[in-house]
Amino acid sequence: MTTNVKTDLFGLFAPEIAELIKPLGLQSYRGKQIAEWLYKHNIRQFASMTNIAKDQRASLDNSFTITQVSLKAEQHSVDGKTSKFLLSFSDDMAVETVLMRHTYGNSVCVSTQVGCAMGCTFCASTLNGLVRNLTGGEILAQILYITEVLQQQEQKVDSIVLMGSGEPLANFDNVLRFIRLIHEDYCLNLSYRNITLSTCGLVSEIDKLTGEKLPITLSISLHAPNNSLRSSLMPVNKRYPLEQVLAASDRYAAATGRRVTYEYTLIAGINDQPSHAKELITLLRGRLANINLIPINPVPERGLLRPSVNDIIQFEQLLQRGRLNVTVRREMGTDISAACGQLRHKVCRNDG
Ligand code: SAH
Repeated sequence: MTTNVKTDLFGLFAPEIAELIKPLGLQSYRGKQIAEWLYKHNIRQFASMTNIAKDQRASLDNSFTITQVSLKAEQHSVDGKTSKFLLSFSDDMAVETVLMRHTYGNSVCVSTQVGCAMGCTFCASTLNGLVRNLTGGEILAQILYITEVLQQQEQKVDSIVLMGSGEPLANFDNVLRFIRLIHEDYCLNLSYRNITLSTCGLVSEIDKLTGEKLPITLSISLHAPNNSLRSSLMPVNKRYPLEQVLAASDRYAAATGRRVTYEYTLIAGINDQPSHAKELITLLRGRLANINLIPINPVPERGLLRPSVNDIIQFEQLLQRGRLNVTVRREMGTDISAACGQLRHKVCRNDG
């Protein structure tokens, strides 16, 4: 007996949709029409696709489904600039999506996996390991959810960071599908330059991304200036040590002409000492790079604390004196624990 599992059209490119609807007698231009309903107009039921004949809408409904998202929880920072949404999919799995209203535009931080397998000691997303990959459609659905929120205020999504829960390069094909799809004119038509992908440093996948020749910004989670400290914070460093990660980033910068960003989460007493700043200067000197210092959002489960304001400023100044291009990430959403995985961990303590 065959079970009738309907194919989900959400997350597919227009030509893929066109191919799938052919057997129903729908002409190929209908593929783009359906894609526009799904991605441009945020329509999630075939019945509302009014430029398609009623009987054809009914047969689409019999054969296909559309990814649905629902809101499980939301939090808004006191200053109103950061909003965090816990969104769930058909299997009730939930991920976090964060909207940051900057002076230069609206940025959305999307998750790429439910949970994470990477095991970084300071990160809440990885506390219960990896649950599953998100599909390209599920990553896109997070953006379209925020698009709807913003439309009510006559605003739009201006940039995207893949910095939510999960390791984007460990879910390579789905992430690439999402990035290419959001760039399509029948979707958000977003420039690749407005997309930043953050990775803990999976070297072979960084090289694979370099081969895709997309001008997105690559952001490397560095967090330590030497191998022994980095390995103690990030288990991935045992597989891909610092030198290899930096060499892969250099290849990315050379191929795309894009400056690589290095993220450095400052943790009190662990990686925030003047000696670490000096090592970092030696490591990054002469590279086409930006350093982004992120004072840690304390994760109580891990017992890791944020350095004092003075220590943060001192670290920043040491890097500046070493002629590194450095910024301290504006502390957005600390009051709503906007660091990856923290809301999901609080709400879904028992289910993942
Ligand atoms: N897996 C990817 C993307 C997700 S994490 C990566 O490792 O880059 C996005 C960024 O937030 C990473 O730089 C990560 O190290 C950082 N981060 C995680 N937990 C944090 C915390 N508690 N405080 C501050 N930054 C954190």
